[in-house]
Amino acid sequence: MEVIKTLLIKEFGIYPIEIKQLHGYDNKNYQVVTVDAVYVFKTYQFSKEQFDLVKAENELLIYLNEVGQIGTPTPVLFTDKSTEKVVGVENSELIIRMLTFLEGDFVGDIKYTPELAASLGTFLANLNSKLLQYTNYVIKSRQHDWDLQYALRNREYLAAIENATDRSLVAYFFLQFEEIVVPTLPKLRKTILHSDANEWNLLTKNNQISGIIDFGDVAYTPLINELAIAITYACYGQENSLEFALPILQAYHGVIPLQETEISILYYLIAVRLCVSVCNAARAKQVDPENAYAIISEQLAWKFLRYLLTINPIGFENRIRAGLGFEPEKTNTVETLLTSRNQHLSSILSVSYKNPIYVKKAAFQYMYDGYGNTILDAYNNIPHVGHAHPKVVRAGQKQLAKLNTNTRYIYDSLASYAEKLLAKFPASLNKVFFVNSGSEASDLAIRLARKHTGLFKLMVMEHGYHGHTQAGIDISDYKFSNPKGQGQKEFILKTPIPDTYLGKYKQNDGTAGKAYANEAILQLNTSDEPIAAFIAEPIVGCGGQVPLAKGYLAPLYQAIRSQGGVCISDEVQTGFGRLGDFFWGFEAQKIIPDIVIIGKPMGNGHPMGAVITTAEIAASFETGVEFFSSFGGNPVSCEIGAAVLDIIEEENLQANAKAVGDYYKALFIDLKNKFDCIGDVRGSGLFLGVEIVKSGTQEPDAALAKYIKDELRNRHILISTDGPHDSVLKTKPPLIFTKENAKTVVDAVEMVISLAKEK
Ligand code: PMP
Repeated sequence: MEVIKTLLIKEFGIYPIEIKQLHGYDNKNYQVVTVDAVYVFKTYQFSKEQFDLVKAENELLIYLNEVGQIGTPTPVLFTDKSTEKVVGVENSELIIRMLTFLEGDFVGDIKYTPELAASLGTFLANLNSKLLQYTNYVIKSRQHDWDLQYALRNREYLAAIENATDRSLVAYFFLQFEEIVVPTLPKLRKTILHSDANEWNLLTKNNQISGIIDFGDVAYTPLINELAIAITYACYGQENSLEFALPILQAYHGVIPLQETEISILYYLIAVRLCVSVCNAARAKQVDPENAYAIISEQLAWKFLRYLLTINPIGFENRIRAGLGFEPEKTNTVETLLTSRNQHLSSILSVSYKNPIYVKKAAFQYMYDGYGNTILDAYNNIPHVGHAHPKVVRAGQKQLAKLNTNTRYIYDSLASYAEKLLAKFPASLNKVFFVNSGSEASDLAIRLARKHTGLFKLMVMEHGYHGHTQAGIDISDYKFSNPKGQGQKEFILKTPIPDTYLGKYKQNDGTAGKAYANEAILQLNTSDEPIAAFIAEPIVGCGGQVPLAKGYLAPLYQAIRSQGGVCISDEVQTGFGRLGDFFWGFEAQKIIPDIVIIGKPMGNGHPMGAVITTAEIAASFETGVEFFSSFGGNPVSCEIGAAVLDIIEEENLQANAKAVGDYYKALFIDLKNKFDCIGDVRGSGLFLGVEIVKSGTQEPDAALAKYIKDELRNRHILISTDGPHDSVLKTKPPLIFTKENAKTVVDAVEMVISLAKEK
């Protein structure tokens, strides 16, 4: 402090009675008290760039002072009238300057109120009105990480975020910024801004903003960034996190009218400001693991980011537009969309719900409808790692921009993806055929089986579904036995579903499984022809999420094989870690199939499917005509498929499916103990079924199941019903589903059942 004191006397001719160090982000600041004034003395390590910047900042503050801005510090002149200087202190060169000290309490020390928020809006608008008239070429040429227009520079710090799911959340918002904000940047009005109106840079008196300090982040950047940053910090850590956005914006809009384009990107700017914060906090923690300041503010930022996902950009923009008096944005109506859809498409395509969902966007486990509602997706298993997962999107975008071709040419990713995928299977399953859907996979699996065995007849599971091609329908009882279906073909042998709830045998300790297997074996033995293949899902989805009874497959597989056939496991729904305990559903039955078909989650929504089989079966197929699928295994699909596998691993999604799935199932079991209209809760991981029955019986109650499904939809939660009587609630959410999400669904089911009981 002695050094500082000497400097102050020499350079400014002032005699300090007290010098106190202040908190500074990356420079050293001191509060200096003399008998008649208080100052802030600032020091910085010398660099030419820093010096020019300090000089520019001083020019800006002098300008503000000249044009009558209230509540900004003013540079204090050195004895030689300069405003900044470079001095040598203890072998290092320091830039020094001094500013007037502003009285007032930090906003960080008091609670925000709508009144204070409005005052912030007015204060910033007044400041910005002056800054709009000001030019400074040093500031104009500046580029730094905290300037939101350059937010993507912070992508380089993503790796410092330890938790992979958190990292994906930040990557998601960076991706949205790139897609939505970056193209609008050239259209936005730019100005010099303070650009860091956080609670420790804002001063308050009488519940009004009285001043703003620390112009260290000053930037020439889109005007709206001032508000995005101010709103982010005003709402930090609030329960209802965007409560103060509107009062700030309304007050600001009253002075500087905002433009629609500015409002349209505000949600993403707020999100990205938080992303910049968490990236820098993660990096700071890497450098200094004990950095408690970074950790505290980081926790709030994470909470806020997750909250943003739940409020959605469309809803946010709608509320802001309404609050600022803009006309609601024109949006298509479901009716017009349906009319044009029905004009061009066949009515055989169904639409879910009487009140259909018009979806505009989706993020992880949430979908956003055209009216700004956030819908919790507890149903769709295709976006396995989450809707719009940034890693999947990037993988597809990058490869699409580079090369897309077919397997008749050689490219890097085909073999490497095949290797990665096959590594997930037992060693005997070591050949893969890539196709584009589950249907194509089941169709090809049947061809492989027939070619290999020289047999034709097929054994299928009651209520099974395997695809929409002709071969797919032939093996899908769910379709061919429908009253409008084609009926059972003569080459199909259907075996009863080994269901321990509604079926004949109920002891799920292996006894029922064995008994069901014996019945199926009896069918085999009495069949007029041997069977080429037996196909079943480990948990029969369309049958109402019915897990095959324990111990069912082992004896049956043995019998199929001994009469010359092969065994196919349809893992289209159950694969890729969804079941929690296992990566593939067949593992639960302690058997290894001869052929596995996969699809749906494989590309997280990008159309992909595959048949995985043994070298022997593949070799038999090779004696036939060439196999070629135009799109199967193309480079874009391979990159996407590989990204999905990486994400499952990095984000530990199988373990999440297990932890959240167990919790989710336990909540449903609690509900079953409360309500006798729940007959059974079954499934595993994030693949569950809840059987709705007439009170106290095992009689399916399709009407109540439908009521629950529809009422959940009205509460913005997606589940489905299925099973032979359409009486089973089916839930199979993206694997990033959280316990909190699970609780939301089960609480809603409870509420709806209670309502139904009251009726
Ligand atoms: N098998 C199962 C078990 C399925 O659930 C489905 C689709 N619902 C398919 C196969 C067919 O897949 P896709 O719709 O991709 O053709």
